[in-house]
Amino acid sequence: MTIGVPTEIKQDEYRVAMLPFGVEELVARGHRVLVEAGAGLGSGVGDHDYLRAGAELVTSAEEVFGQADLVVKVKEPLPAEYERIRPEQMLFTYFHLAASKALTEAMLDRGATCIAYETLRDSAGRLPLLTPMSEVAGRMSIQEGAKYLERPQMGRGILLGGVPGVQPAHITILGGGIVGANAAKIAAGFQADVAILDVNLDRLRYLDDIMPANVNCLYSDRHTILEQLQRADLVIGSVLIPGAKAPQLVRAEDLRRMKSGSVVIDVAVDQGGCIETSRPTTHSNPTFIIDEVVHYCVTNMPGAVGRTSTFALCNATLSWVLKLADLGPDGLIARPSPLREAINVYQGRVTNEAVAAAFDLDY
Ligand code: NAD
Repeated sequence: MTIGVPTEIKQDEYRVAMLPFGVEELVARGHRVLVEAGAGLGSGVGDHDYLRAGAELVTSAEEVFGQADLVVKVKEPLPAEYERIRPEQMLFTYFHLAASKALTEAMLDRGATCIAYETLRDSAGRLPLLTPMSEVAGRMSIQEGAKYLERPQMGRGILLGGVPGVQPAHITILGGGIVGANAAKIAAGFQADVAILDVNLDRLRYLDDIMPANVNCLYSDRHTILEQLQRADLVIGSVLIPGAKAPQLVRAEDLRRMKSGSVVIDVAVDQGGCIETSRPTTHSNPTFIIDEVVHYCVTNMPGAVGRTSTFALCNATLSWVLKLADLGPDGLIARPSPLREAINVYQGRVTNEAVAAAFDLDY
């Protein structure tokens, strides 16, 4: 089969869906891999690296989409890509279809088979293609928080770890899942004073076992959240209720309890955000200020650290790409499998219940 890897065209997106080691494995299994010239540059991977691994380079996205049986991407197709998609084609990428009626309609219209990274569940019920990006965003949230706490960035002028004789920053993390745990780990390493809040007691017990002494694990109720907001220099929003909009744990009026120049990083903004005053921002214009609190609400945080994110993503996707390529379109639908379950749109029909429900479509 022919596998195509186009250059990502979304603003501020530097990732690529396949690295040379993936090309090598596919070619070794007898597949052909087309890579658009320059596709890896944002992640520091040159065309010659792909050529050495056995890929064929093409100069345009039209050629990739025109020849590939399976197109592997990072972000959802954008309008400029819609008309390139062919009915018999399989697309494997993040789609987040329930968030966009226009995209869903375009995919139905093109008749392609859309297999969504974000809905692929492994045999243990986990979402293995979401985890690596949550790891990146969680770790990055502390890096960004440290930056925006600096005075020239309108922050309080606080060093996360303090110095001998001066208190460290207090960091409150709302939600102790993948993002929250990774944020806590990095924050603890900076020697900040960290509190991580969750409603899942088993999760809190686990975090309490593995985290160092400067991380306190607290139950997430309204009283504790308000107490924490008064103390916090940095708040990380990382709650998730799968399939639902994030709960707004910090209300607009709560900001007035916070210190002037404190920072909120609402990682959950891609699900609506857990801070009422959040609204999506971009890497080019990442922050805004309300009630003297700096808000950072970038929806695709991993895009900024494209090289790390690309390697993290490709480590997780490659085994599934190999399975897809070996199965082919007929094998994919012949038997139940995580990949078949992850098909959201199949030949002009929605095959994912949540996507159908979002737009009242037949399922
Ligand atoms: P996760 O499911 O691993 O963790 C979510 C945690 O929130 C769970 O432990 C859950 O118990 C907890 N929770 C639910 N309700 C709560 C409440 N009321 N108070 C406190 N905790 C509560 O999810 P994750 O992988 O860590 O992702 C978190 C969010 O980050 C998601 O919305 C995800 O889409 C988003 N995300 C954003 C980016 C970005 O670039 N902005 C990147 C990756 C992930």
